[in-house]
Amino acid sequence: MLKPELVLPAGNLEKLKTALMFGADAVYLGGKNFSLRAHADNFSLHELDEGLKFAREINKKVYVTVNIYAHNKDLEKLPTYFEYLQYLDIDGVIISDPGVLRLAKKYAPKIPVTISTQANITNYESAQLYKELGASRIVLARELNIKEIKQIKQKVDIELEVFVHGAMCVSYSGRCLLSHFMTNRSANLGSCAHPCRYSYRVVEEKRPEEYYPIEEDDRGSYILNSKDLCLVEYVPNLIEAGVNSFKVEGRMKSPLYVATVANVYAEAINKYLNNKCAYTDQEVSYWINELQTVATRPFTNGFIEGESENIQDIKKGKEVPRTAFCGVVIGYDLNTKRIQIQQRANFGLEENIEILTPEGKTIPLIISKLYDEEDNLIERARHPKQIVYIPYNEIIPNFSILRRVE
Ligand code: SF4
Repeated sequence: MLKPELVLPAGNLEKLKTALMFGADAVYLGGKNFSLRAHADNFSLHELDEGLKFAREINKKVYVTVNIYAHNKDLEKLPTYFEYLQYLDIDGVIISDPGVLRLAKKYAPKIPVTISTQANITNYESAQLYKELGASRIVLARELNIKEIKQIKQKVDIELEVFVHGAMCVSYSGRCLLSHFMTNRSANLGSCAHPCRYSYRVVEEKRPEEYYPIEEDDRGSYILNSKDLCLVEYVPNLIEAGVNSFKVEGRMKSPLYVATVANVYAEAINKYLNNKCAYTDQEVSYWINELQTVATRPFTNGFIEGESENIQDIKKGKEVPRTAFCGVVIGYDLNTKRIQIQQRANFGLEENIEILTPEGKTIPLIISKLYDEEDNLIERARHPKQIVYIPYNEIIPNFSILRRVE
């Protein structure tokens, strides 16, 4: 049985490294143009080169999203961009628009093409069409159930990628005009303003100043607000269905989110491949609990079992991070036996801290001493990216993450 790839989002270089160190087999990222996450940091060509070198050293892959629905004016710069991506020898491009696909095939014929979920592939005829157009992998629409996924795999010899975790759109896959209509920021050009997460009121035509509440509860109503997808317990079913790649949404999320989700799904995949038996309830609840420690809405299993009413979070379950991203381990001083940390959020003495290691270990830690770079004892690491040291008797690997349990 082939091991499916675990593909994590990389909104910037730090997240790329975190995802790959914490168990992802590959990352997907956007360049400064042509990608559907205009508000993620995204990668300059220089950063892309650096990210690719990092991935190559540990035998992992990098896919580049070129998944806008292009207008004529966007086409002009695409040939040079594709030629450069081919020169870099990236592992694949992710495309939605047939015109962009045509340019990719013309100017970067050696780069494998994945068709983005934005293309809304829901049946085997569409899958076959994209195969004939030269795609080697398709990301299926999120609206498919497990039987449909299996059937597409049986009928078409093409790699299938399925979203297993992350935010969902209320609209049919990504076909959403809400953001463009309300804010003039097009979701299909990478600038979604997420109006589906807003709170709505009813206004009667002749009383434009009067906003009538629609109350699900005392916080209002969020009728368009989707829950977040979480399919960790379906990993065995998806592997058995022949899915080649598991994808996680979230290029705007934090490195803590990326590390936690990569860790959990990598463990779930490996556990099934090693044991070939269903997960225990304890395993599933441990993973779900771990996934809930990072900022998220309530979870849904989406459409994987068919039509479901458990998709909208009409009560607007608040995104409550139960852990906070405090810092990253960047070294260990053998002489002083201190962990070297680069700060990401204010943290200090006596707080309930955990270290999450790339191998998936969680180490509880109450900080009793904290040093700055001049070896002064301090109470808190307050400054952005401040370098601090915590005494600890064992070597903690680089890239480990410090999180505060709230
Ligand atoms: S407004 Fe909401 S449903 Fe529409 S594209 Fe943006 S996130 Fe998706």
